[in-house]
Amino acid sequence: MRIQESKELSSMAKFVNMTEDQLSETLINELVSRELICDDEANYGSELLDCLEPDTSVSDVVNVLNNVGIKDVKSKHINHLLSMIIIGDGECPDCGGEMETIDADYRYTGGDGYLTPLEYESIWEEKVCRNCGKKIIIEK
Ligand SMILES: [Zn+2]
Repeated sequence: MRIQESKELSSMAKFVNMTEDQLSETLINELVSRELICDDEANYGSELLDCLEPDTSVSDVVNVLNNVGIKDVKSKHINHLLSMIIIGDGECPDCGGEMETIDADYRYTGGDGYLTPLEYESIWEEKVCRNCGKKIIIEK
C-alpha cells in the first residue's frame, strides 16, 4: 500500500526533506501501526479521508503529521494529508491493484516442437485490474 503521487505529496515531501517515496512509506507505516487505516483492497483508489477508521480523532492525525516531521501542524497540512489517494503496490495505474492478463497475442520465436520445445513471446497483452476493472494494453 502506498500514496499516489500528487502535488500534495510532493509539497509535503519537500517540506519535511524526504523523497516522495520515503514520505509515502512513512505515512503508511504511521497510519497502519496506529490502526487508523487497514491494508484492504477496498481502500485502493480512495482518498485517505474515506479510508480512516471512523473513531480516528483529530489528535491521531496530528500525531501522524508530527511523526513525519511537521511539528507545527496547520489545517492545510491536515487537508493535504486527508486528500491523498491510497493505492496498492500492484500494476494498475489508477488504484495500484493486481492486474491479470485476459488476452494476448503471441509470436513464434523458435523450436520445432519435436527435438526442441516451441518458443513464443507475447506481442501485446491486455490486462484487467481485479480491484477497479481498469483495462490496459501492454505493447512489447
Ligand atoms: Zn485498478
